[in-house]
Amino acid sequence: MNTAKTLLPGAATPSGQPITLGVMGGGQLGRMFVQAAQAMGFTTAVLDPDPASPAGLISHHHIRTPYADEQGLAQLAQRCEAITTEFENVPAQALTTLAAQRTVAPSAACVAVAQDRLREKAHFLQCASTSGVSPAPHAAITTDAQLAAVPDDLLPGILKTVRMGYDGKGQARVATRAELAAAWDAMDKVPCVLEKRLPLHAECSVIVARGADGQVVSFPVQKNTHRDGILALTEVHEGTLDPALAQRAQASTVAIASQLRYVGVLCVEYFVVQARDGTLDLVVNEMAPRPHNSGHYTQNACDISQFEAQVRALAGLPLPTPRQHSPAIMVNLLGDLWFEANAVRTQRSDRPVTPPWAQVLALPGTHLHLYGKLNARPGRKMGHLNVTGASVAQVRDTASRALALLGLEGLAAGAAR
Ligand code: ATP
Ligand code: MG
Repeated sequence: MNTAKTLLPGAATPSGQPITLGVMGGGQLGRMFVQAAQAMGFTTAVLDPDPASPAGLISHHHIRTPYADEQGLAQLAQRCEAITTEFENVPAQALTTLAAQRTVAPSAACVAVAQDRLREKAHFLQCASTSGVSPAPHAAITTDAQLAAVPDDLLPGILKTVRMGYDGKGQARVATRAELAAAWDAMDKVPCVLEKRLPLHAECSVIVARGADGQVVSFPVQKNTHRDGILALTEVHEGTLDPALAQRAQASTVAIASQLRYVGVLCVEYFVVQARDGTLDLVVNEMAPRPHNSGHYTQNACDISQFEAQVRALAGLPLPTPRQHSPAIMVNLLGDLWFEANAVRTQRSDRPVTPPWAQVLALPGTHLHLYGKLNARPGRKMGHLNVTGASVAQVRDTASRALALLGLEGLAAGAAR
């Protein structure tokens, strides 16, 4: 289908229906897409089987069927002029079905690359010849022969399932061949990739938006801190990353999007590694064919958020380069915060409490985003807090006060690094 068609907010289709944008998946990313689309005057539709999905709860239309359900897909195609996705594990066939009738961005082909760590790495290697940024040394492990042939220098390594990994799930750290074999067994010998474990100096990510006309714009580079395999904190301000490295990360991300002829918002994650001589280099980790948790700060610190960029790219609207107007720190709010602070550290209480939002919001420059999830569970992403300020010193100070109120002082070190 022609993805260059421009859809004007508030306009009507030839049959008099309001222009409607659709999203596959009703999680928090879908919810924030819906919010951005509605703010611009679009009608929205969400396909998600969960009746209480965060995006379904606020969308004009919510189609509650499985992602591969033909009737559900037909309804979504009938309602919407253009459809995007909020998670990479949407069945690629569902996107192909929708694309036969409607504008779909990103395309099923691009999403299929992001669903498969081996295809993703092959694409990164192809782009490395122009960008100079390569993936970590790795080997496919899909057969016993490949397992036996793994080169020693990939150990210690991280064994990752080729498909369906997120938030550090589907991964095992292995130091020896025996551990590698046991870990692959424990994963039922599903197709995997073994990556060399790199000494990480830092982690960062870049979000770009590319229109169907090939125009691509980049957001600033985000520096990310993870805890227990889950993103905990993102900092975006001067001094977080060497400017030359940041520029290389942006150029590499633009190349990765452009060489896929990608349409929509794409996030690419990078490792910053330190060589023996102390010099810093970039390694490309993985990509997400959608907005990303590390880009949530754009909602309050940039003149276009990653979700507005997603709406614009999907609707064929102009994509000016986003401008960050405030230094920012984003803190993820996991379900652990809903359990009494001491109970979280010792024995989890089953009585959820409401975190001290009034005290947090009394700090100037704090912006609370909760996803409307009804049940808090430890490790579950319930929301995020964006902190902005007039200066880097101010944003750091406010963030550390907010972290202290939330009992997350341990992360303040990340913020101050
Ligand atoms: P998410 O969905 O949270 O982005 P994921 O489950 O897809 O994560 P990765 O991004 O591949 O998994 O890895 C999660 C984290 O594990 C990384 O952010 C990094 O901290 C660490 N990690 C992954 N690969 C390596 C590596 N080769 N060397 C060192 N650390 C690594
Ligand atoms: Mg990752």
